[in-house]
This record gives sequence, C-alpha cells and structure tokens, in this order.
Amino acid sequence: MLGIECQLEPATLCNMLLGNVPSTSSNSSPVASMQSTLPPLIDIGVNLSHESFNNDREHVIAAAIAAGLEAMVLTGTSVASSELAAALAGMMPGFLYSTAGLHPHDAAGFGVDTCAQLHAISQQPHVVAIGETGLDFNRDFSPRHLQEAAFAAQLELAVQTGLPVFLHQRDAHEHFHAILKEQRDHLTKGVVHCFTGSKDELFDYLDLDMYIGITGWVCDERRGLHVQELLHDIPANRLLLETDAPYLLPRNIRPKPRGRRNEPANLIWVLGLVAERLGVDRGSLARQTTANAKLFFGI
Ligand SMILES: [Zn+2]
Repeated sequence: MLGIECQLEPATLCNMLLGNVPSTSSNSSPVASMQSTLPPLIDIGVNLSHESFNNDREHVIAAAIAAGLEAMVLTGTSVASSELAAALAGMMPGFLYSTAGLHPHDAAGFGVDTCAQLHAISQQPHVVAIGETGLDFNRDFSPRHLQEAAFAAQLELAVQTGLPVFLHQRDAHEHFHAILKEQRDHLTKGVVHCFTGSKDELFDYLDLDMYIGITGWVCDERRGLHVQELLHDIPANRLLLETDAPYLLPRNIRPKPRGRRNEPANLIWVLGLVAERLGVDRGSLARQTTANAKLFFGI
C-alpha cells in the first residue's frame, strides 16, 4: 500500500528456524561471542517492516537468532506496516510477534476506516498488542488535536480487544498522561516504549502501573545519562528492553559498526549497559526482562 514490500521467503525462514543461519550478517560475530552464556532475550520493539530492511530482512532475523534472541515483537506504525509486520510474524510463529497501530507522526492519516483495519489485523493470534500509539509533540508531524484523537481511538481499541498497548510519548507528557489515565482502569497493560523522560514522568507512568521500555538511547553518553540515573527507580518486574531498530543504534557497540542502522541483534548492548548501571549481572537481567516480556505480551 505504501510501497512496503516483503522479500522474505518462507523456505529461508524455515532454514533459519532449523539453525541454518546465513553467515553474511554484518555484526553477528562480536554479538554472538558476547551472548554465548546468556539466557535468551526478547526485543519488544523492532520496526522490521522499515524499508531499510527490505534487502536483507532474513539476515537481520538470522543475526538476531545468532545473538540469542528468543522472540521479537515487530512494531506496527501504520495500517500498511502493521499488515506487513503481522505477515512477517505469521511466517515465524513462536519467534516473531507484532503490534497493530498508527504512530502519532501519521495521525493525520487516521481515517474512519483505520480502527476497523487495525482491529482486523489485531485478531490474528501472533498480533499481541495495540500500537505504536501516543503523542509526539517534539516533531509535530501531525497536528496535535489529530494525534490526541488517534491516540484516544487506539486506546479504545486496546480496551475493546483486551490487548496490551505499546505507547510512544515525546515532549507531550501532560496531554499523554491525561488521556492514558482516563482509560487506565479499562486497559489490561501498557508499556511506555523508548522511555526518555524525567523522574516525575517515570513516576506518573509507574503510578498507572505501566511497563517501561528502555532502548539504546540509554547507551548514549551525550543524552542518555539522565535515563541511566533513573534505571534504579524502575521496578525489576516493570522493565522491558528494546532496540527500536533501525533507529537508535547503541553508541557503546565495540567495535563500532560501519553503518548507522540498528538491528535487533544489538539488544545485547542495551542489556549490557543497563546491567552495568544497575550493578546486576547480565544473565539475571536477561532472565528478568525476558520473563517480563512474556508476561506482558502473553507469549
Ligand atoms: Zn516510538
């Protein structure tokens, strides 16, 4: 619909599931050596339908498997990307899952049919959350009143389906919190993905019993230090890890990758930084966050 194409062959995916992992991944060797003794991880936010993965999506999945990922949740950010994410997830049941939603950037395109389309996508068994939805007043790619309307409608969809909600908020805490709070009692669960906010914002979300998604933003020595300081305030059973690939390449990856594109295999670097700042070993943090993700998505 938006020029998004799926170039994955089911046969290739089956080979991967059987452990026949292609060897052309750009960064599998350092990652694989780091993770060899770790419990499996779950990346709760991967934009695998993004066009930057169009030419090597199968290798990205293979590298994630080689890096020790047990599952990935593919983020839907529009009707088209939610459809593609669900189609990809359907090819690897038990490893790939997806969400159905419309990103606040695209809220201006939220039409009369959008909720029905997202609802239809969400009825597939491997679609495990509504979202990505929320408010983004940082970029203001869509008018704010349309963002708020699309957000409220998707929260209603989450209530209606009983699915957890995958949330995005940037520079819009007050409005976001008010809309979320109004529906909170009717929602099952929610995760504020890619949390980058203040301590007050964090506590507002924890008061609503939200889960908190931490990305490679926390690995950024220029802008992630305040998030590092807040890690101790997140209850262990509310912490989730994600790459938000292809965005937010962790800056602590060594050796430094050649390109700028992030991949789910890099989740190990987010885990490493968070474990270090919390003063816990990576294995116990992997176990905890994987258990959290399974409970959150019901997978
Ligand atoms: Zn987001």
